[in-house]
Order: sequence, then structure tokens, then C-alpha cells
Amino acid sequence: MQIIEKFTTNNENYKSGRRIAVKGLMIHSVGTPQPDPEVFARIFNDPSGRPNGRQVGVHAFAGSDGKVIQTLPWDYRAWHCGSGSRGSGNDTHIGVELTEPRTIKYTGGASFTDNDPANTKAFVMATYKVGVDLFAHLCTKFNLNPLADGVIISHAEGCKRGIASNHGDVEHLWKFFGLTMDQFRQDIQAAMTGASPAVPPPPAPDQTVSPAPAPAIQPDKTVPFNLMGRRLDIPGVIRDGRTFAHVRPLLEGLGFEVGLLDGVVEVRAGGGLKPDSARKINVTPEELTILQKIVHAEARGEDEIGQILVVNVIFNRVRGKGFPDTIKEVVFQKNQFEPTRNGAYEAANPGPATINAVNKALTGLDYSKGALFFMSRRAITAESWHERALTRLFDHGGHRFYK
Ligand SMILES: [Zn+2]
Repeated sequence: MQIIEKFTTNNENYKSGRRIAVKGLMIHSVGTPQPDPEVFARIFNDPSGRPNGRQVGVHAFAGSDGKVIQTLPWDYRAWHCGSGSRGSGNDTHIGVELTEPRTIKYTGGASFTDNDPANTKAFVMATYKVGVDLFAHLCTKFNLNPLADGVIISHAEGCKRGIASNHGDVEHLWKFFGLTMDQFRQDIQAAMTGASPAVPPPPAPDQTVSPAPAPAIQPDKTVPFNLMGRRLDIPGVIRDGRTFAHVRPLLEGLGFEVGLLDGVVEVRAGGGLKPDSARKINVTPEELTILQKIVHAEARGEDEIGQILVVNVIFNRVRGKGFPDTIKEVVFQKNQFEPTRNGAYEAANPGPATINAVNKALTGLDYSKGALFFMSRRAITAESWHERALTRLFDHGGHRFYK
């Protein structure tokens, strides 16, 4: 057993720095067929991972090869077991997760099928042994008696004691290989006193993993949602009693607008902003340069929306009647975009903010309400052609928009 410190410094449980007085140790099993503890260490270090609005944290992940990745200092408070009627084990217990082999496949709740029982058994036995060694080490470090009541418990035992959420780990897996928590506690005690650990009894020869009940919903099918009275079938899966659905159709069903920019999913409240793949315009590199330069020349002092609006107006013209049909022709149409006449376009040197605004506009972000014209508000008088001949839509920043 080898402990490798890789603290999840982006995890809220690390950042908050809350300490506990360690009274015990809770053993978990990850509940997913991922054998590599480093994968979990990475996931738990991602600040965006917040199931239920709180960030899950655990002190360590143990692999079958003896490697323990320690993700939090042992006496930091982690959010690993939820709570029950009598409080939360998070306030008293260190949480350690054992990884699970690729050879099993969860089918719903704590049920799984085993594609390779021999390998599954070898893996589970190996992580069990790592758990024994780690807990023996921690019992010594924190002066804990592994046989005392409530000191060494599983997540499932924590639930029965009223200090953890309703999970079946680790027994949901161990029971198929003759492993019990009582045996675990005795093996920890033995390891602390230097005795060789008892060999866990082998499973009965004809014991196999019980066939899983048919899951309510097959993986990769749709999950029916009732979204405020409207039925939506969203691609997803129910696993471990939790419902996972693809986020985009769910958010869109809730009226949010979802876009993707530079690998970052953008979610905005609905209302006026309509990223819409049908409206997306693909541009050539030349057109992209034209858009960046004209936006910089027209609106470099404007905020992001003010810059996106310039692109929106150009697109509205390209798509609309009465204007040329290409970006280049629209921008260079005679007497239309002032900077193409006065040298400002040629001199334009767009920076990151402008480039970013243009990229956002290209995803379909549209604030324009169909505007075809805009005008500097400072230059507007009651006699301006725009005011007399056009329909005023709205002001944004230094510009007034019309159609
Ligand atoms: Zn657990």
C-alpha cells in the first residue's frame, strides 16, 4: 500500500479548510466500473462538478494495485456520505473510496451484472486488502480502535446508524465474494498488531452474482420528464437510483438557451437570446476578418452585446430583402458602414474582446430583434433620416437600432 498525495485543491472541501476531529473511518465503493483512482482524483478536482449543488469530496481513492490517491488532508471535512436522522458522518469520519473493476456493469440501483467473475473477484479482493492496510495505518495515526462500535463502518452501515445517505456500498459488492464488514474490522485489527490478516473465506463454488432486475429504463434510451406539465423524452439513463439526462435538451426544455463556445457550454436565461443552429452562419476566413474589423471600427467602445449587435445587423441584412447577399457586399455597400469610407475600417486592429464577441455572434447569439440599421445616438436629431424613415427598436450603449 502506497499513499500518494494529490490534493484536490479546486474542490470546495479543500478550499473551505474545515477540519473535523476524526472519530472513525468510512469505507465506500465508487459504484461505477472505473478502476483507476487517478481518474476520480481528477474528476473531484474539477470545480464545476457539484451534484446537488454541493461539491462531493472524499479523502482518498484506493486502487487494486496498492496505490492510494489521497485527495484531501485526513482531518479536512469532506462531503462523502450525506447525512441521516442522527447527523452526518462527514463531521466525524474520514471517507475512503475503493475503486471497482471494469468487468461489472451497473443496471440500476446497486445491481450489476458481472462479465468476468474471476477478474472481478481478483480486483475486489485486491482493493479489500488495500483498504485493510490503509485503515490499519489510519487507525494507528488517529489512535482509533477498529473493533469499537461505530469506528470502522461502511456507507451502508452509516445509513443504518442514521449518519449517512441511503447507499449500499460496500456490501453491495463485497457480499458476492464472501467479504463482510466484521471481517474487515478484524483484518484491520490484525494488520495493526502485525498478525497476518485472515484470508477471507472464498465464496461458495456455485455462488454467482445474482442476475440484476431489469432496470426501469435501459441505458441510452430516453427518460420521460414532466417539465411543468409538458412531456419531454430526453436521452439519458437511470443508474444507482439516480436519473442522468443529457443536459442540453433538458435545459432547452426548461426555456434556457444553450450554446457552445471554445469548448465551454454557455447557458443563458431565455428571452431575446436565441442561439439557433438554423440561424448560424458559417463564414470564410476572409468574412471572419471583415466582421472582426467592422465590429472593431463601429463598436470598439461598446460592451460585448453592443459588439455582437453589429454582427447581428450584418447577418439580418444578408438574410433579408433589399440588401446584398454576402457579408462582404453588405459591409462594403455604398454609403452604409461609415468606417469603410473614412479609413477606420482599414485601420481597425481587433483585440480579443472583439474577436470573442464575433465568435459568439457566429454561434447564433442574437440580440437584434431584427434590426437592419443602427446609428450613433449622439448624431441623431429629430430630422435624421433614421428617425423619420425607420422604426425605432431600442438603444444599446452608444447606438440606436432600427428596422
Ligand atoms: Zn458511499
